[in-house]
Amino acid sequence: MIERRDFYIGGAWVAPQSGAACDVIDPSTEEPFAVISLGGQADTDAAVAAARAAQPGWAATSKAERSELLARILGLYKARAEDLAQAMSREMGAPIDFARTSQVGAGAWHIKSFIHALDMFEFDRPLGSHAPGDRILMDPVGVVGMITPWNWPMNQITLKVIPALATGCTMVLKPSEIAPLSAMIFAEILHEAGVPPGVFNLVNGDGPGVGTQLSGHPDIDMISFTGSTRAGIAISKNAADTLKRVHLELGGKGANLIFADADDTAVKRGVLHCFQNTGQSCNAPTRMLVERAVYDAAVETARAVAEKMEVGPADREGRHIGPLVSATQFDKVQALIQTGIDEGARLVAGGPGRPEGVNRGYFVRPTVFADVTNAMTIAREEIFGPVLSIIPFDSEEEAVTIANDTEYGLTNYVQSQDGARCNRLARRLRAGMVEMNGASRGVGSPFGGVKRSGNGREGGIWGLEEFCEVKAVSGWHEEAACHTHGHGGCDCC
Ligand code: NAD
Repeated sequence: MIERRDFYIGGAWVAPQSGAACDVIDPSTEEPFAVISLGGQADTDAAVAAARAAQPGWAATSKAERSELLARILGLYKARAEDLAQAMSREMGAPIDFARTSQVGAGAWHIKSFIHALDMFEFDRPLGSHAPGDRILMDPVGVVGMITPWNWPMNQITLKVIPALATGCTMVLKPSEIAPLSAMIFAEILHEAGVPPGVFNLVNGDGPGVGTQLSGHPDIDMISFTGSTRAGIAISKNAADTLKRVHLELGGKGANLIFADADDTAVKRGVLHCFQNTGQSCNAPTRMLVERAVYDAAVETARAVAEKMEVGPADREGRHIGPLVSATQFDKVQALIQTGIDEGARLVAGGPGRPEGVNRGYFVRPTVFADVTNAMTIAREEIFGPVLSIIPFDSEEEAVTIANDTEYGLTNYVQSQDGARCNRLARRLRAGMVEMNGASRGVGSPFGGVKRSGNGREGGIWGLEEFCEVKAVSGWHEEAACHTHGHGGCDCC
């Protein structure tokens, strides 16, 4: 049993002041393999106080100092890649090869990308030639409370911690209590890289405990949250009394519009993307909308891909998918598969229960439903499991209507060889992101949604701006400005 009961506060690992023990479960075996503590108000207060005390000093560092720190973090992150992969694989069930490449890789990609974005970022900008005495200063927002989910642990944590460090913010991170171990390794990396005491703090806890204490805390300036829409609403309400800024990255119900002129691999690509990470991705293309002329062929391809998809334990190497993360998720996905059948969708592959021969672990069968209507529960709710819903359409207009008829708006996808149509749809789909013909978004592209998918944008320049306050200054003396430091107008040189 791994024991990781301490929190990282003020630059050291400290024992909890009021920590209840919490088991971390291996979803492949359903057995606990580690124990952490769930913090209480005194632990949260101590972490917030440490972050508050460190804030002025950290805000006064130069852009170059912070950039060098990020480079050291990247080097150490790569050196600890295998530790991070093993931790994530065990705590949230990502098959080890997928954990090594995608889960760990996503974090490295973000750190690298933010180093580049920081290099280009202007903390001190002229308003325009019409107002030479005006200056726009991008100040750090202050102390940030960060609350992250279990499904892409390093992806979510680096998307918050790295831009906060880069912009001069200090922070308290509460990782998911379901997958906390990789976050604690990340804290070790930051410590070794030389992040000054108090700049980064980590307190483990659950939503009703540390999560709620952070969102309502009077000494926190901003909450950056990734997780469910349910929790995003609770956090927004609890943060309202202190009027802190709330940045939300929430759930999704992505539509993948497949037209008759789509390339030959579009359907297969869509199914694999839906099942990736055992369907536990906010941007998963879970509603496959298919033009009637190629509908039957698409259903057949989806069936074949799902039936070939292997499911297996997280510690086994290979390209299979792993279990769902928890008993709660297992029960939820099983219930939704049953609801799909009860509401009249046509089950094409998979179905309720575990895969054949498996009687332990939160494993589910890769499942495909056809003849789904957009009114059915499986087309409306975020399932967060390897379950694909296929819906036919007859015209581009109808496809857009179905795609936009959802509470969510994170990522939509378009598959068509008609360039004009693609561009038209990119404008008409109501979502934070539109990905077309399998082209992934480039380095520095902002990630985020609209409607119930949230309001934040993470990554690149936009990801840095999220952690800044825009300060407008008039009567600026350009001849006296400091050009060594990133914030403009210090007294040092
Ligand atoms: P969750 O909302 O249950 O938990 C996420 C985090 O919030 C955890 O750390 C949890 O302890 C905390 N939390 C829960 N209730 C809280 C409350 N009332 N106050 C404060 N904190 C609270 O979500 P999850 O099950 O861990 O993650 C899955 C969800 O995350 C899915 O809905 C998925 O779509 C979403 N997600 C979104 C993105 C994105 O960028 N849009 C990325 C990944 C995951």
